[in-house]
Amino acid sequence: MEQKERPNFITNIIDEDIQNNVYTDNRVHTRFPPEPNGYLHIGHAKSSLLNYRLAQKYDGLFNLRFDDTNPIKEEVEFVEAIQKDLHWLGVEWGDRLFFASSYFSEMVAYAEELIQKGLAYVDELSGEEIRAYRGTLTKPGKNSPYRDRMPDENLKLFKEMVAGKHPEESMVLRAKIDMASPNMNMRDPVIYRILHVEHPNTHEEWFVYPMYDFAHPLEDALEGITHSICTLEFEDHRPFYDWVLDNLDDYQKERPQQIEFAKLNLTQTIMGKRYLKQLVDSGIADGWDDPRLPTISGLRRRGYTPESIQNFCEEIGVAKANSTVDLGMLEHFVRDDLKLKTPRYNAVLNPLKVTITNFPEDQEVEWLEVQTNQEVPEMGTHRVPFTKELYIEKEDFMEVPVKKYFRLFPGNEVRLRGAYFVTCNEVVKNDEGEVIELKCTYDPETKSGSGFTGRKVKGTIHWVSAENNVPIEVHLLNPLLEKDTEFDSENFLEKINPDSRVVTHGYGEPEIKNMQTLEKAQFIRNGYFSVDPKYSKEDQLVFNRVVELKSSWRPTKK
Ligand code: ATP
Ligand code: MG
Repeated sequence: MEQKERPNFITNIIDEDIQNNVYTDNRVHTRFPPEPNGYLHIGHAKSSLLNYRLAQKYDGLFNLRFDDTNPIKEEVEFVEAIQKDLHWLGVEWGDRLFFASSYFSEMVAYAEELIQKGLAYVDELSGEEIRAYRGTLTKPGKNSPYRDRMPDENLKLFKEMVAGKHPEESMVLRAKIDMASPNMNMRDPVIYRILHVEHPNTHEEWFVYPMYDFAHPLEDALEGITHSICTLEFEDHRPFYDWVLDNLDDYQKERPQQIEFAKLNLTQTIMGKRYLKQLVDSGIADGWDDPRLPTISGLRRRGYTPESIQNFCEEIGVAKANSTVDLGMLEHFVRDDLKLKTPRYNAVLNPLKVTITNFPEDQEVEWLEVQTNQEVPEMGTHRVPFTKELYIEKEDFMEVPVKKYFRLFPGNEVRLRGAYFVTCNEVVKNDEGEVIELKCTYDPETKSGSGFTGRKVKGTIHWVSAENNVPIEVHLLNPLLEKDTEFDSENFLEKINPDSRVVTHGYGEPEIKNMQTLEKAQFIRNGYFSVDPKYSKEDQLVFNRVVELKSSWRPTKK
């Protein structure tokens, strides 16, 4: 993979810093800081690849840091899943794996430094009162009656909080800034709260936990991060990020800077971790790796490749303004990546039986040799059994053809792909009047590859032997949000597309039998498919459709 980030507004900032010698030795150090409260999604792919590629581009360092400062929502399962997904994506951190929780002692010491400088105080207002005192966007806040406590008393109380001497919610530590600031984040934000909760990493060591806005700049600074890249919703938090570091002795010479870029949003896609968690917990999704989810593990299970996600992220680039990317663009990149990498097989998803009435009586099967991928001769050829009984797609026959229908109908001749021309002579129906079988004849002269030029047919359809095949289950996947449904965080669970997973049973040519979990193939005319690891069993392959073959989305010419 081309690991280097293309020029964008962030590389411009870094280039300028290098020109101005802002950081010692002009070093560049980035990080990806997931909170282990869920699985990563494609938005995180964009963010992690961006940080990783920036470090590569500038011969810098890249940290993976778990932002595990909130023990209520975080789990070890997520820590492991996140690493697995990043490895798969091609994001590498070597031995630079860190946990915010390992800095808790340093963070407490910094909080004490602020207290001693008269820049933080212990507040005993209730949570509700703190909210009420905060004011609104149009009204300034009000000072807490505890705001003017002396540093010594604050320090004593804070040390007691740390020692577990005070119950939860009895007090908090707040930064002392300005209750009238037009930026609500600067109105004496809470920086420490009491939580008598076990932490997955530090266990029972701590009774206080830092708030995100206080912890994050410290995590960055302690690791020597230079460019702390985050998403746009943190723009209003930047003044506090700077305030924290501006007021600590350790960071007077050199410190990280926060840079915001726009989140990735995709049409028809539910993205945020907490919404994805609701899909998982409600059972709508069959796990975080449900192939309909935009999680990295879901995309992997569906059949996406790391390259397709890397290429997509590179193409969308980084912007300073929010926008929503067409899902079709993501699909374009997986199609583009699989096109020359996968074999092409015949599989019929919605079978209709065809009997070749003039198939030689003394023959059981004719093995036909076909190219495995016509665009990649190096993939060689494989053999396909042509037999008296076959399956074609139901959609490839119409008893009364509509205008411009060139596939099979009574009296019409079509090409069976890689085999022969066949003509439909008779339609067999069941008692309900449903078409259940077609009786056709084939013309042995028209064998594919024989150079036959006698006449032409307008339609070519795919087929599978009804006597020698692999039964397959196929999951046709569609977006969880229908085209014109707006995402509504309140009631999206009730509005999930009922056709997001359509299950069909069909047949594939024998070659398919050997496909392994997550192996991918093009099923001719039906799309790209990947073997599902959760549902497939030894005697029953289950496929997810990665993507259809055609799309309305087109790359714009550069
Ligand atoms: P979510 O809202 O899905 O929970 P988050 O931002 O809370 O996402 P974190 O684990 O805190 O998730 O995020 C780790 C990093 O990924 C952050 O720097 C965050 O800004 C970035 N990130 C999260 N969502 C997106 C997105 N949709 N596009 C780009 N970057 C994202
Ligand atoms: Mg978060």
